[in-house]
Amino acid sequence: MLNPRHGLKYFLSLLLFCGVRAFGQNHPVPLQYRLGIDTNKIHVELKYLPQEPDSTVFSYGEPAFGGQSDILKGLQHLIVEAPARLRLDSAKRRIVVYFKNNDPIRINYEIVDTRPGNTTRNQLFRPMIMPDYVFIHGVNLFLTPQFRKDDPSAHVSVQWEKSPPFPVFYTFDPENDGSRTSITTVDSISFRFITGAKDLYVKRFHSESGANYLVLRSANIKPVTQSQIEKFYLGYNNQMRRYWKDTRIIKYSLVLQPFLGVDHNMSGVSFGNGFIGKYNEPDSIASGYRQFVISHEMGHYYLGDVVAFAGANVEGQWFDEGFNDYTTFFNLVSAGYMTAADFESEFNWVFHQLYSSQIKNTPNDKIFENFWKLGDYQKLPYWRGCVFAFFLDNQIALATKQLHSIRDVMLALKQLVSSRDKKMFTNEEFIDAVAKYLPRQQVEEAFKKYIIAGNSIVFDSAVLMPSLQVENKDRALVIHVVDEQRFQQHFKFD
Ligand SMILES: [Zn+2]
Repeated sequence: MLNPRHGLKYFLSLLLFCGVRAFGQNHPVPLQYRLGIDTNKIHVELKYLPQEPDSTVFSYGEPAFGGQSDILKGLQHLIVEAPARLRLDSAKRRIVVYFKNNDPIRINYEIVDTRPGNTTRNQLFRPMIMPDYVFIHGVNLFLTPQFRKDDPSAHVSVQWEKSPPFPVFYTFDPENDGSRTSITTVDSISFRFITGAKDLYVKRFHSESGANYLVLRSANIKPVTQSQIEKFYLGYNNQMRRYWKDTRIIKYSLVLQPFLGVDHNMSGVSFGNGFIGKYNEPDSIASGYRQFVISHEMGHYYLGDVVAFAGANVEGQWFDEGFNDYTTFFNLVSAGYMTAADFESEFNWVFHQLYSSQIKNTPNDKIFENFWKLGDYQKLPYWRGCVFAFFLDNQIALATKQLHSIRDVMLALKQLVSSRDKKMFTNEEFIDAVAKYLPRQQVEEAFKKYIIAGNSIVFDSAVLMPSLQVENKDRALVIHVVDEQRFQQHFKFD
């Protein structure tokens, strides 16, 4: 039921968001884009006001974003107006523009839809430019300046010279339907996207979070499904705010669109203050597995303020993804979206995936080097982290007679990193946070064994809270909820 999910949290968590800001007229926008759509491409004209002497380096695409190593194929007919010159370094996807003075520079190019076949990855991470549909991330449409003095808040303006013959939605400027110039920042635009479609449906609602946007392609969605999605989205958002004691006003966008000719039930990617999910059938978007995916991704927004130590090899995914998965279980049960029976079947699925995996004992720092390989490597940190969080949650419940839960650890970590720029905690700090409820040495040993070294946790009924039991069935572990009321009670909070 729970299937592969794209986990780019590590990458996207680097992107703190800044919304569109007013930009005074005394500061002309240094990067001005004019776009024109064609059948399968977008003509781009960039007027660049030099921000540094002699030359500026730009980059295009990002292979770490969806494993798109050949993304440069889609950048074509790149020219600069004389007297400026440019040099393209294909291997590094770098464009160096040389100039003599501060006169505006005009760069033209085209972005062509070069998807090699229909796959989930191509449809989530590559430009899709079609007569009735557009989906393109900033990093694949715009040139990203690499100023000598890093300036992620450098401003960018975007306007259509020839706009698509259908409504568009900017995730970096959701109030703008594309009919007027959008002004934002390099930082904000890079991993957000533009989408548009003949059947694009944009619903804006006010909740305790401020303005929120639901963006769908309506053609195949029944009104009843649409209202289910809306209801779930608002309800779960409220649940997450209560879980995290979060009172921020956010502009969150939930974008759900069908895959085209790809038979995959759902996957997607977060983009700071939103999530794009793609699916193969719209009927059950707000239930079961797809509900879990949407919840997991909304979870990233709230968990985004707490990041585990990443080391040199993206080593924090056990928390960023795995604890996010367990937090999703926690909140779905807490809010009543998941019954005890649902929990049993879905959590046992995770259990089974982990314990039956050939690579289950891969050390934590060796997982990422295999990340873009097919197979279990992408999912191992999710499963391992989720099962470890479940283990700790049970230990804490047992040790405190159900007075505390893993939520207290999560809130403590959030508090701990709240004043830090990077929002990252160390492994040591994680152990400290759990050691408030369990003997420190035991926590430290468990962390080293089960997360760092990758050993399997041995579950027996002695390590579970009384409402749960474990059974070894055909050499596979199975969790049973034996006291439903007590089980539900564990996930409640004020
Ligand atoms: Zn994730």
